[in-house]
Amino acid sequence: MALLLNFFFGKPDEWRQWFAAEMPELDVRVWPDTGNREDIDVVACGSLPEGAFKTFPNLRLVVSLLAGPDAILHDPAVPKDVPIVRAGDPAGDTMMNEVTLLHVLRHHRNMPAYAAAQQRAEWISLPRLPARERKVGVMGLGAIGLAAAKTLKGIGFQVAGWVRTPRPAPDGIEVFAGKGQFPAFLARSEIVVNLLPITPETENVLDAKAFAALPKGASVVNLGRGAHVVDADLIAALDSGHLAAATLDVFRKEPLPSDDPLWRHPKITVMPHASRRIEARPMVPRICDAIRRLNAGRPLENVVDRARGY
Ligand code: NDP
Repeated sequence: MALLLNFFFGKPDEWRQWFAAEMPELDVRVWPDTGNREDIDVVACGSLPEGAFKTFPNLRLVVSLLAGPDAILHDPAVPKDVPIVRAGDPAGDTMMNEVTLLHVLRHHRNMPAYAAAQQRAEWISLPRLPARERKVGVMGLGAIGLAAAKTLKGIGFQVAGWVRTPRPAPDGIEVFAGKGQFPAFLARSEIVVNLLPITPETENVLDAKAFAALPKGASVVNLGRGAHVVDADLIAALDSGHLAAATLDVFRKEPLPSDDPLWRHPKITVMPHASRRIEARPMVPRICDAIRRLNAGRPLENVVDRARGY
């Protein structure tokens, strides 16, 4: 039995040392040095090149090293009966908490408008609100979204989340669930942060209709995936003055092509998918735990639900 790793963060020697400390008996191979492909029964990756998954006849488990398992889910070479688990921390990611707070505070304190005014050497006066008077909406209260929402709540913002399945409010975070409650969630959100996974249901979720449902002067922060936002609709909502500003960290095409209008829009902040550094070390015990569970026939944790798409 062997684990095949394909990563873009961490160093091969470090990964090997960590696995040796955690599970010395594990045969760890690093892409593209697969060795005998029949030995590989677990693959841990963000994705593999087209068709590669089909070349491992004894594959039993795929571990997504990314929070968003979309590339693996959309790969037709991944056998449908092989489970996919996520290696990220189910309690969230501190750097995602930081970046959420950064962008929300930036919009909350009107920094894009002040920066534009400085370009004009104009001394402007804008309303100054404490966090307790600001309503922030977080789309997605999953591993990352819930921790980020709690961070915002800790600063004092009025925080609501939008999810698929109704649940009691966690830590004073108001919960809106399902398509039916989406307009009400948007209507109360002066700053909306997207932390949804990309699925057929969530693609294009931030479109003209959604922007129109936000209160006038609202700001949008997209930390999910580029395909959540209809770019032309966002630009139209900003140009009409309905939305104040937007920060985008993710794009349909990455790197964002240099001629894309998003780059130069005065009300848009473009971040080059720079929200966090993925920490490899803490994933190793979780990957080993998944392998032990698989071998012992015990239920896996952090399993991706193919039907839901996340
Ligand atoms: P999870 O899978 O843990 O949680 C997903 C959340 O989205 C859940 O709360 C789920 O609702 C909700 N959701 C899914 N579909 C819908 C829907 N149709 N309507 C309403 N709510 C829905 O994901 P994570 O929190 O770990 O990560 C979220 C996403 O953040 C990733 O998929 C990735 O796209 C993005 N991300 C971006 C990063 C970046 O660098 N910019 C870094 C890390 C992640 P429910 O709870 O009811 O199931």
